Amino acid sequence: MAIDPICKTTVDEKTAFKSVYKNKDYYFCSENCKQKFDELDKSVIRVRRSLKDKERISFAKLRREIIEPGICTLCGACVASCEVLSVVNGKPALKGPCTACGVCYNQCPRTITTESNLIGSVRDVFTAKSLLSEVKGQDGGVVTSMLLYALEEGLIDSAIVTVKSDEEPWKPVPIVAQTREDILRGSGSIYVHSLTMESLMSAIKRGSRSIGFVGPSCNIDAVHKMQNSPYGLLHMFMRANILKLGLFCMDTFDYPGLKTFIEQKGFPLSSIREMKIRKGKFIIRSETEATFPLSELDHLRSGSCTVCTDLTAEKSDLSFGSVGSNEGYTTVLARTGLGLELFQDAADRGYIKMETLERQGLDRVLHQAKAKKVQMYMIKKRIETGKGL
Ligand code: SF4
Ligand code: SF4
Ligand code: SF4
Repeated sequence: MAIDPICKTTVDEKTAFKSVYKNKDYYFCSENCKQKFDELDKSVIRVRRSLKDKERISFAKLRREIIEPGICTLCGACVASCEVLSVVNGKPALKGPCTACGVCYNQCPRTITTESNLIGSVRDVFTAKSLLSEVKGQDGGVVTSMLLYALEEGLIDSAIVTVKSDEEPWKPVPIVAQTREDILRGSGSIYVHSLTMESLMSAIKRGSRSIGFVGPSCNIDAVHKMQNSPYGLLHMFMRANILKLGLFCMDTFDYPGLKTFIEQKGFPLSSIREMKIRKGKFIIRSETEATFPLSELDHLRSGSCTVCTDLTAEKSDLSFGSVGSNEGYTTVLARTGLGLELFQDAADRGYIKMETLERQGLDRVLHQAKAKKVQMYMIKKRIETGKGL
């Protein structure tokens, strides 16, 4: 007896309809099931044709990204889509020449193949910088300028931003900013976790009802959950309008570890004026500028960051980051209707200069987002090499 691969009923090989595929016999209960099975081959050819003009993707990419890291589920979708693939020693493998048609890669449930899988839904993409002379924030100061615009136009009554501690240099302190001066204190990146949600709750308890909230994806996710979960506090009784301004984020570090690292390099933490991460480098600026490979800080990464897969704060109204834009400019992803409208209005009112981000810039964002998405696949490797978790 055999199983019909289409309807899964048991059939008798002697009386069943039959097809031969990749040198193997398949049996069907009816002509209809046999026809569906036979048409699969034509579907593969159609997909191959439509992928022809796109990027050439060979089996090597599937092997490198999915099979070698050990995250292949052995579902067989790649093998079933191509006559030169078969399972060898428990893994999909080539048994003939690959034409780099990309079909196997696009069938695999573990590959990430669409832009929205990488950066979430986006309405428009810009590169921008502040037009306000007093805003000296990193990468164009666009977040600070957005908050100043929203506060001065009466769209928010407070903003949750993170400033540096007065007592301990570069230690993050979340505050409820209600004045221009408070918001200006919040500019610049601090690569340590900040307990922003406490400040958000405190702002609501103090009567704020329209709040600008700035944070990386993990903080934006917390707000989203509290707004949308059936038992979320913001959903049930602490109702407030929250404009979510998300920050691109790759890493944060343990504060005491970061302090020791910088001091061991010969810089008192209090002398540091700016910290930034660019192209795999950690850069600090005091009287002089010093650059270190980011890998030197691997052991200081927060555990949560090693499993975080959201670069661009996908649940925010507007997301901001340096990736994709030139020095002095910020990449802005407008995700919601509200975010897009406010961003365009801020530009119309002279707070921000903005233009459409070129395709090359967006590709850099997608590339970086992919690096972060697939890092979850590398967790096993990190445990094996003792480099994370
Ligand atoms: S020829 Fe086969 S193995 Fe090569 S990319 Fe296409 S589907 Fe994958
Ligand atoms: S499609 Fe992907 S997950 Fe499925 S067997 Fe092939 S490589 Fe593994
Ligand atoms: S890497 Fe992820 S978890 Fe870590 S601070 Fe950034 S957004 Fe949060």
